Amino acid sequence: MKFKRGQFIKLSALTAAFAIGGKKAISLIAGNELLADNHKTKADPNKRWGMAVEMGKCKEGCEKCIDACHTIHNVPDHGNPKDEIKWIWKEKKSKIFGEQVHPYAEKNADKPFLYMCLHCDEPPCTRVCPVNATFPREDGIVMMDFHRCIGCRFCMAACPYGVRNFNFKDPRPNIENPNYSYPSRSMGVVEKCNFCNERVDEGKVPACVEVCPEKVLTFGDLNDENSEIRQILRTRETIQPKTELGTKPSVFYVV
Ligand code: SF4
Ligand code: SF4
Ligand code: SF4
Repeated sequence: MKFKRGQFIKLSALTAAFAIGGKKAISLIAGNELLADNHKTKADPNKRWGMAVEMGKCKEGCEKCIDACHTIHNVPDHGNPKDEIKWIWKEKKSKIFGEQVHPYAEKNADKPFLYMCLHCDEPPCTRVCPVNATFPREDGIVMMDFHRCIGCRFCMAACPYGVRNFNFKDPRPNIENPNYSYPSRSMGVVEKCNFCNERVDEGKVPACVEVCPEKVLTFGDLNDENSEIRQILRTRETIQPKTELGTKPSVFYVV
C-alpha cells in the first residue's frame, strides 16, 4: 500500500493527538485501512518475551554480544559517533537509570550496562508511527518494518529510552561482513533491536544471548512461570528504567 504525501502531511499535523487517543486518534485521522493492514508474523500470542540482564557477570571490555548482533543484522559502522547506528551497546548506568543512581554512587554511576530496545508492553513509539512501520507483535516483540518506514522519526521522539537510530547516511557501503539472509536498510530509515524475532521464530534464542560466555543475558517467556527468566525474576532483585512512565519494559536488570 502506498502512503500519499498529502495524507502524511495531514497526519503530521495531527499526530500530537496520539497522546490523547493513541491508536484510536491515528485511526480516525488515517482511516482504519492503515491499522487493519496488519503485518503477518509468526508470533505466538500465548508467549510474552523478555530479557534479564545480569551485569555483575559481564566481563570488562567484552563486546561479543554487540559484535554478534551487529554482524547478523547488517548494522553499519560509519566510523564516527555522529552517524552511529547501534542495536545493543554499553551505556553508563546513570544515563539509563537517571535518578535511580544516587549522587553518592560515583563509581557505579559510570558502570557500563548493556542497553537495547526494551520491548515495552505499552510502547509509545508504535502509537505515533503514521504508517504502522513499527508495531508490537502478539508476543510482545516491538518490530520495525524497514521497507515501510518513511523516516519521519516520530517513533524516536516518542521513545523515552533513546534506543532508536536514524540512518542519516546510506548504511550499505559501511557494512563490514554483509549477511545476505537479513535485510539491510537504506538511508532515511529508523532501526533498533528486534529481539532477534527472525531467530525466535525458528525456536532459537537471540544471538546476543547465545554468544555470551558468561550467561549475562537470559531470554525467555514471561508468561511461563517455569521459565528460567521467571526463576530469575522471582528470586533476584531487578530494576528497570523510567517505570513511572507506564511503558512496562520487558528488559529487567538484575542488581
Ligand atoms: S524502548 Fe523505546 S523503541 Fe523500544 S519499545 Fe520501548 S518505547 Fe519503543
Ligand atoms: S520514522 Fe519510520 S518507524 Fe518511526 S514513526 Fe516514522 S515511519 Fe514510523
Ligand atoms: S536480542 Fe537480538 S537484536 Fe536485540 S540486541 Fe540481542 S542480538 Fe541484537
